[in-house]
Amino acid sequence: MTDDDRRWRTAPAGAGAASSRVRAARLAAGLFLLASLTVLLTIGFLPPPVDRSRMLVTSAVCAVTAVVLVLLPWRRLPQRATVLPLLWAYLCIGGLVGAYAGQLSHYLPFYGLAALYAGLTQRPRYPLVLAPVTLASPLLALAGAEKTDHLVDLLGAALLSVVVGEVLARVVQRSDEASRAAHALLDGVTALHEARTEDAAADILAELASTLLDPDAALVMLTAPSGSTHYYTNRAQRGFDGPLGELVIDTNEVSGIGLAVSEGRALFVPDARDSPLVDQASAARLALASVLFVPVPGDNGYLGCLVIGWQTRKAAVDPFGEQVVGVLSTQAGAVLQRLRSVGRLRVQATTDPLTGLANRRVFLDAMDRLRPGGAVIFIDLDHFKRLNDSQGHAAGDEVLGAFGAALRASVRDGDCAARYGGEEFALVLPSAASVDMTHAARVVVDRLRARWTGPVTFSVGIATHQAGDPPSVTLARADDAVYEAKARGRNTLVVAPVALPALDHA
Ligand code: GH3
Ligand code: MG
Ligand code: MG
Repeated sequence: MTDDDRRWRTAPAGAGAASSRVRAARLAAGLFLLASLTVLLTIGFLPPPVDRSRMLVTSAVCAVTAVVLVLLPWRRLPQRATVLPLLWAYLCIGGLVGAYAGQLSHYLPFYGLAALYAGLTQRPRYPLVLAPVTLASPLLALAGAEKTDHLVDLLGAALLSVVVGEVLARVVQRSDEASRAAHALLDGVTALHEARTEDAAADILAELASTLLDPDAALVMLTAPSGSTHYYTNRAQRGFDGPLGELVIDTNEVSGIGLAVSEGRALFVPDARDSPLVDQASAARLALASVLFVPVPGDNGYLGCLVIGWQTRKAAVDPFGEQVVGVLSTQAGAVLQRLRSVGRLRVQATTDPLTGLANRRVFLDAMDRLRPGGAVIFIDLDHFKRLNDSQGHAAGDEVLGAFGAALRASVRDGDCAARYGGEEFALVLPSAASVDMTHAARVVVDRLRARWTGPVTFSVGIATHQAGDPPSVTLARADDAVYEAKARGRNTLVVAPVALPALDHA
């Protein structure tokens, strides 16, 4: 796996919350067991009125079922199973209340505990869904009991426990979400800073936006590393399948990206349909109702724009969302700027600016890696000085640039074409199994001759690398071959002879 292949992923949503809910379920089952045993052991001490035999049976059943709950393999059960202790608690409350028709104050703590448990372990809306069971528990309790005057109080207590459970569940959910979002943001920003390429960074940015802002589409639009800063092209996407096709936004024309970038801040368009700021073709394809544009700043101007869309209309971006896009835009900007600066330095360190060919350093490195059989081609333009003298240095530069382009077009991937210096060029053709590299070098030169229509001719020297020779020897042989080509009247090709092994005069 290369660094570029590394993909950052968020933890599956809710994993942490589920395990904390499971822990709460097991703890609750344990507490309920304790409560049942306590009731069971203290029946004899309870003041009247107590239906002792009914209470004995009920608390024994409660205790046995509590043991089952404690022993359940909670980790392997779905999160939904955490509702079991709650149902159990309601049934037990019902049974015990029925057996001991005492004061309401004796049962309020049970409902309080049940509400607490429901709030801590259940997703929002579950306590509401369970309301019928909760409210049925007092009915169960009073079925068969002589005194029914507690019914309203008990129903009130049960209703209160539903409401408290629901409110708590919402609070817990919100804090869960906030902590998950904080973790996702931290993990994502760390991964962003580890990205080695712009595409990897764009991909992480799209993933982060779609995890944290819950949109239906997230697009990362970037300017070209060395091109115009007006054009933004899509480089990563989330939230929809299939290719969107190349989307190019020209900020010279009216656009959300253009406005966000010119104002230097995020721009939210609540009504994307028919807005001139939104690319209507893309918005229609993705059925977007609202769109947010988040500019990504660089050292000099903007490097990109994060575009986030929702299919249901949003009136505004909430404060958390605003904070998230602020962090994303600053962090992504820092990372992209660094990647671009490093990329530019790398190009500067390896490329000849006039011809766009590799520079001498890259050529010498390729020579160091050359294995026996590989070929070196030296090319020197003929009478270049005359061209300079007659047409001027600028015209000479133009010819050098054109020759570089012709040379680049004549070699294959894997070959190294370099400007060695002045009007001298050098190529390295790595050896290939069962290929005569002298012949391969001649083919490259033939291709170059066919392509080159410039005002000067060129002389060529070819040398193949011999086992045991240092690169400098092969270079010198290629250089000698060019010298020989010049001596033979220029515009020709000479292959360096292979030096014979020294004779052993022993
Ligand atoms: P020969 O056929 O013997 O190689 O003759 P030549 O004139 O090509 O060789 P010479 O070494 O006498 O001159 C090389 C010329 O190349 C001299 C120099 O001004 C020119 N030159 C070197 N680098 C550049 C460059 O970057 N731009 C331009 N325009 N000219 C260059
Ligand atoms: Mg020369
Ligand atoms: Mg020359």
